[in-house]
Amino acid sequence: SVRVRFAPSPTGWVHIGGLRTALYNYLFAKKNEGTYLLRIEDTDRTRYVEGAIENMIEAMKWAGVMHTEGPFIENGKIVQKGGYGPYIQSERLDMYNEYVNKLIDENKAYYCFCSKERLDEVRADQKQKGLTPKYDGHCRDLSKEDALKRIENGEEYVVRLKLPENTDISFEDAVRGKVTFNTNDVDDQVLIKTDGFPTYHLAVIVDDHFMGITHVIRGEEWLSSTPKHVYLYEAFGWDVPTYVHLPNILNSDKKKLSKRQGDVAVRDFEKKGYLPEALINYIALLGWSPEDNKEIMTVDEMAESFSFERVSKSGSVFDVNKLNWVNSHYIKEKDLDELSELSTPFFIEQGIIKEKDVNDKKEWIKLVVDLSREYINMLSEIPEFSKRFSGEAVQIENDDAREMIELEHVYDMLQVFKTKVNETDEINEEFAKKVMKMVQKETGIKGKNLFMPTRVALSGQSHGPDLVKSLIVMGKELVIKRIDYTLE
Ligand code: GLU
Repeated sequence: SVRVRFAPSPTGWVHIGGLRTALYNYLFAKKNEGTYLLRIEDTDRTRYVEGAIENMIEAMKWAGVMHTEGPFIENGKIVQKGGYGPYIQSERLDMYNEYVNKLIDENKAYYCFCSKERLDEVRADQKQKGLTPKYDGHCRDLSKEDALKRIENGEEYVVRLKLPENTDISFEDAVRGKVTFNTNDVDDQVLIKTDGFPTYHLAVIVDDHFMGITHVIRGEEWLSSTPKHVYLYEAFGWDVPTYVHLPNILNSDKKKLSKRQGDVAVRDFEKKGYLPEALINYIALLGWSPEDNKEIMTVDEMAESFSFERVSKSGSVFDVNKLNWVNSHYIKEKDLDELSELSTPFFIEQGIIKEKDVNDKKEWIKLVVDLSREYINMLSEIPEFSKRFSGEAVQIENDDAREMIELEHVYDMLQVFKTKVNETDEINEEFAKKVMKMVQKETGIKGKNLFMPTRVALSGQSHGPDLVKSLIVMGKELVIKRIDYTLE
């Protein structure tokens, strides 16, 4: 049965690219009723970021891309579940050592004592000659006895993979088809570093094998490492999994997506008020499309139609406008209570509501969210939008709006409107629905001449959210203050 994994290194906050890799793994597992697991690749201790594992798990939970094996957070602690653990590489070091020793014994790996200075020199020299920098094989033929003696004497060493010379290594990639590299173009990869930790390249093979991984779905930056991986499988006598390399995600300038051009961390999108279902839906389309080219899809629909054949070979541009369009779609569809709940932190954060008043303001928030959702792209825009329903100052948006309010009949009409509002105890739905009819009856003014100036007087804008609902949100006191303000 299908077993796939997302195997991030905890070197920072999970970004859009990582989320897409996780999602494709997740969709493929779901489609095939397989298993999707999370593994933490933390063997590079120099790049380890405190809190990154927790952030990873939280972000995946938020996005709804959850694994069923691997590390989870329970009561603030990391716990691991599943029959193939541990799922954190730094807890599997013994295994890597055992398997690298096998390679050394079989002369498929060797000890290397070259200093950093020597390696730098070799590299500089090769560059000058226009060659692709590559380890020159200086330690390849040291005898094991000599090597062990040097180690005993306390010399620093690494272990390198001994690739056969001038040999083609091929593999089938589910997206790219047959891929071939010649070992002359591939480095004798370091497998164990001077600190005794394995490199990613060794650990990934041992783990994918023992975790029963059937398909390796990952970013295309790993394509050039794959021949080394394939050779390692063969050296161990293990089955090679199916490879699926996903195209890069690009910035609008067609360069690989990077932090330098704005936010790429998943939690940045959460903070701005993107809904997880929208982000996931949009990200699914970055490098894949269903056969019917449908754009709005639930996770179940995506899983249903997911296939590697429809993953593209070329990079896809991350388009914020498209993401906003998808997000605004989901915001309009969302259950109002849930949406209000999700929007509340933004009101607090932007100082519109105090945390202690949240309970009293629940109904107001709901009304505002309901009125705003047609007009915004992300939840963080709702509080700003809500300003048109709070504060007595009215900003007249443009000359057209100003002209509207200066029409001859408007002053008297608004006086009548104000009187009606004054006479009611509060603006409830019933009153809000009938007040315009009352004004119409008394003044004989109707239609556009009635509604447009009233709207401008109340909001400064000639178009906008439903007038009846707006009146309820503003309430009696504010409606009167605003009419006074514009009439002044
Ligand atoms: N740890 C690697 C990364 O951070 C995983 C690559 C792979 O999936 O093999 O991208």
